[in-house]
Amino acid sequence: MERNSVASEGAEWQGPLWRTATHQYNNTAKQLGLGDDMAARILQPRRALVVNFPVRLDSGRIANFTGYRVQHTLTLGPTKGGIRYAPGLDLGECAALALWMSWKCALLDLPYGGAKGGVRCDPTLMSLGERERMTRRYASEILPLIGPNQDIPAPDMGTGEQEMAWIYDTYSSQVGHPVPEVVTGKPRALGGSVGRTQATGQGVAYTVESLCQYKNWELQGLRVVIQGLGNVGAAALAALNEMGAIIVGVSDVSGAVINLDGLDAASLLRCVSEQRLLKSWAQQHNQSICSQHKLLTTSCDVLIPAALEAQITKEVAEQAQCKAVVEAANGPTTPEGDKALAARGILVVPDVLANAGGVTVSYFEWAQAQQSYAWTADLVRERLQQRLQDAFGRVAHTSEQYGVSWRTAAQMTALQRLVDAAELRGIYP
Ligand code: NAD
Repeated sequence: MERNSVASEGAEWQGPLWRTATHQYNNTAKQLGLGDDMAARILQPRRALVVNFPVRLDSGRIANFTGYRVQHTLTLGPTKGGIRYAPGLDLGECAALALWMSWKCALLDLPYGGAKGGVRCDPTLMSLGERERMTRRYASEILPLIGPNQDIPAPDMGTGEQEMAWIYDTYSSQVGHPVPEVVTGKPRALGGSVGRTQATGQGVAYTVESLCQYKNWELQGLRVVIQGLGNVGAAALAALNEMGAIIVGVSDVSGAVINLDGLDAASLLRCVSEQRLLKSWAQQHNQSICSQHKLLTTSCDVLIPAALEAQITKEVAEQAQCKAVVEAANGPTTPEGDKALAARGILVVPDVLANAGGVTVSYFEWAQAQQSYAWTADLVRERLQQRLQDAFGRVAHTSEQYGVSWRTAAQMTALQRLVDAAELRGIYP
């Protein structure tokens, strides 16, 4: 922003992920020829709430937790985005993730702006009771901001169906009647959509399928590496295995396993469903465990980071031996990693497109709850595949038309939709 400008930017969101998100945004805004005022207006998150609250632990001790909820834009409709439980979570991370949610929703033509929130904690060290008390208290702290027509949370790292059920219950108890549309990613028994749990990973697989069609690659026998075997990674593994791809490497927090002839997908999925770590699977199957770096630089056709942000650094990108990266995680490639991949001609299908299956089926779940009418599994699958194929086509087309990376193309498509809406709505008062 200019020095003589009447408004000045603050440092509220600063952090590594926010820097990545804004670096990408600036490229996109420049490519679209966006004026400084509109660029600043769209970039800055609209609202954020920081909460500190006490929770009684099983030991009787009282622990203090910090939680966040950031709403990026209200231009296209209510906001939508996950709730993350992670040890290093901060406001900048939530803001960056909210921004990416905005691009994702706009790109997929969903009637939402982006949001993100969560609690700084390590859920793996907490009992079920502690997680429930923390979730309910966090939900009641952010209650003024959320609602079925305001801001609709969903699962993200460290949260799942159970947390959504507690948030649904806490919100409904406060307002005095059931409001299933206040969260998505609920258990089926509470109005969750069929196919929501697998949606992000299934969407990643549809994106790989579209990529194969676009590039004239055979999906049958495609060699795939997946980092992360959580909600997203495991569902992507299951769907890609069903489509005929060969899984040559996988990892979780305990390490990685590689087998260039192909790993036994069914046995890996059993290990995940039994909530065991990959390390124990490797011991049981006499496989050696190796580092994340080795996994990410293993020879394969498609590399799918599905765990954390900032995994594909410059160093990894310079040694990667894949033809394409399909970003299942949010922000898994650093700007330097992006540059190095581009220099080596490795295509990156960006997160806002590749992992948009989750928010798309979340939208279906919200629509079903508004109608009090459940769709069939086939209808959900068919509509998910169609939306992702359409978005894939839009991104491929924009990339070819402007000669830009797929990441910039995806963000240009999304940003243009937001700019058009912002101009039509004008400025109040
Ligand atoms: P999850 O918590 O279910 O699983 C995370 C996985 O990553 C686990 O297998 C864990 O062991 C592994 N992991 C953790 N630390 C690791 C490390 N240092 N190295 C390697 N692996 C590690 O999370 P998830 O819901 O599967 O989300 C994964 C990513 O996908 C996140 O970036 C999230 O924001 C993104 N995402 C999730 C959804 C969704 O619907 N859940 C939707 C869109 C994007």
